[in-house]
Amino acid sequence: MDNKYIDNMLVQMDKDLSSKGMSRRDAMKLAGVSATLLMGGATNASASTEATTTSKAKGKIVIVGGGLAGMSTAARLTLNLKNPDITVIEPEKLSVSYQPGQTLIGAGIWDEDDIAYNRDDFVPDGVKLIEDRAIAFDPMNNKLTTAKGQVISYDYLIVATGLQLNFEAIKGLESAGRAYSSGDNSKLLKALGDNGICSIYTAQGATKTWEQMQKYIAQAKSGKKTKFIFTDTNTPIKCGGAPKKIMYLTNSRLKEEGARKNAQLVFYPNGGKMFGVPEYHDAIVEQFKREGFEWHYRHNLVEVDVENKIAVFDSKWQEKGPWDPMMKDFEVIAKHEKLRVPYDFLHVTPPQIAPREIGESDIGSAAGWVPVNKETLQHIKFKNIFAIGDIAQVPMGKTGGSVRKQYKVLVKNLVALMEGKKLTAKYEGYTVCPLITGIGTVMLAEFDWTVKPTPSFPLDPLVERWIFWLMKVYALKPMTMYGMLSGKA
Ligand SMILES: Cc1cc2nc3c(=O)[nH]c(=O)nc-3n(C[C@H](O)[C@H](O)[C@H](O)COP(=O)(O)OP(=O)(O)OC[C@H]3O[C@@H](n4cnc5c(N)ncnc54)[C@H](O)[C@@H]3O)c2cc1C
Repeated sequence: MDNKYIDNMLVQMDKDLSSKGMSRRDAMKLAGVSATLLMGGATNASASTEATTTSKAKGKIVIVGGGLAGMSTAARLTLNLKNPDITVIEPEKLSVSYQPGQTLIGAGIWDEDDIAYNRDDFVPDGVKLIEDRAIAFDPMNNKLTTAKGQVISYDYLIVATGLQLNFEAIKGLESAGRAYSSGDNSKLLKALGDNGICSIYTAQGATKTWEQMQKYIAQAKSGKKTKFIFTDTNTPIKCGGAPKKIMYLTNSRLKEEGARKNAQLVFYPNGGKMFGVPEYHDAIVEQFKREGFEWHYRHNLVEVDVENKIAVFDSKWQEKGPWDPMMKDFEVIAKHEKLRVPYDFLHVTPPQIAPREIGESDIGSAAGWVPVNKETLQHIKFKNIFAIGDIAQVPMGKTGGSVRKQYKVLVKNLVALMEGKKLTAKYEGYTVCPLITGIGTVMLAEFDWTVKPTPSFPLDPLVERWIFWLMKVYALKPMTMYGMLSGKA
C-alpha cells in the first residue's frame, strides 16, 4: 500500500474518530474485535475447544486444491486427529493468496504484494504437499491421477479446487482462455489489451484494473465525457458483491480527482435485482440513486468488440402474450436481443465454471460443480468424498466467509465418518459480503439460506459504516491468513 494513501487515511481517520469521541487505538481494537466476532469468535464459542479435541480415527485423507478452503481444512484436521495422514495436491505456488484484497488492488489501495502469500509457508506441520494437478478421478476405486502421472489412492477425498474464470466464453476474448485468480495470467492480460478492458477477478488483472482506471479518470478529468461500464455474469459467481464494489471504488476515485461530473457509471446486472436479500437490494438501489449511477437489469455480457470498444449484451425482457383461458391469465413471453453498448472503460466479471477435470469427471455434476448434501458437505453419491468452497454445489456459498463456516462442519463430519458415527454438523448457508460503497465505507451484508440479514453485531446491517471499512482493510486479512489458515478461526 502506498504511504501517501496510508497518511491520508490516518488523517481522515483521526478527524472522523475525534468527532465520535474515539481514539485511533480504540477504533483499531474495535475493528479487530468486530473481525473476531465475524470469524465466529462469539457465535461459535466452542470452536477452539473443538479444534483441539483429537480423535484416534485413522485413514488416508487427500485434499485436491490447497487454496483457502483446502489448506484451512488440512490445518483443522491436524488439530482434530491424533494421527493425521493428510496429503494436499496443489500446483500453484501462491495458492493461499488473499483474493478479497483484489478489489482493493483494483482501486489502487493495495498492491499485489499485499495479497501474495506463499503456499509452502501455510502447509500445516505433518501434512504432505504434492505440487501437481489432479486430472482424473476414479471414485469407484478411491484413486486419482495427477498431471505428472502419479496415481494416488485415498480413503477419504476432499475436493477444494475452487473455480475457473471462463473468459474464453465471451466472444472477442476467446484467446484469454480460462484463468485462476492466482498465478500467471499473461494470456488473459494480452487478450484484455491496453484499451480500457479489465477485471479484478485475477490478482494481475486487478493491477491492470487500477492502471486502466487511472487512465480513464484522467480522461474524465481533462473534460472529456467518459463512460465506465461494469458487467455481471449469468453463472454462479464468487463474491457476488465484487462487480459492484469496484464500481463504487471507481466512483470514489473519480470524486477525489474532481472528475465525477464528466463520468457516466453504468452497471449491467444479469438478473432482475441488485442482491438476493430484499433488504440489501433496497439499500443498494438507494445508494445507486444517491451516487448518480445508472443500471439496467437482465443484461449478460456475451461479446466484446475490442477494437471498436463496444460491449455486446444479451438483453432480456418479458412481454404480455395472449390470454390463456385455462390459466385465466395472460401468457408471459420471454424476449431477448443483442444490445451494443460503447464504452471507454469496461470492467468484466467473467462467467465462472468448475475446472474441466472436475466437471467432466464422475465426481462432478451435470453443471460441473461437485454435488454435495448442502448441510453436511458429503458427496451425494460417494460417501467418502466431501467438497468445500467455490467448487461445492451449495447455494450462495462462494465466498471466504462461507468457507469459514463450512470447514468446521466438514472436519466434524469427516471425523465422525472416520469414527463410524452419524454426520451431525450442518452448514446453514451463512455467507458475508463486506460491500464497499466507497473509500472509507462498507455495508456488511451477512445472510444465510433464510435470505434474511443475519448480522453478527447489534447494529443496523443496512447502514454503511466506516468501522467495517477498517475491519475490511486492516483486520480481515490477518484473521484469514493466520486464523483460518491455522484451522482455528
Ligand atoms: C475479486 C474477488 C473478491 C472477493 N471478495 C471476497 C470478500 O470480500 N469476502 C469473501 O469472503 N470472499 C471474497 N472472495 C471469494 C473468496 O476469495 C473465495 O470464495 C475463496 O478463495 C474460495 O476458496 P477455495 O479454496 O474454494 O478456492 P481458491 O482459494 O480459489 O483455491 C482453489 C485452489 O485449487 C487449486 N486447484 C484447482 N484445480 C486443481 C486440481 N485439478 N488439482 C489440484 N489443485 C487444483 C487451485 O490452484 C487453487 O489454488 C473474493 C474473490 C475475488 C476473486
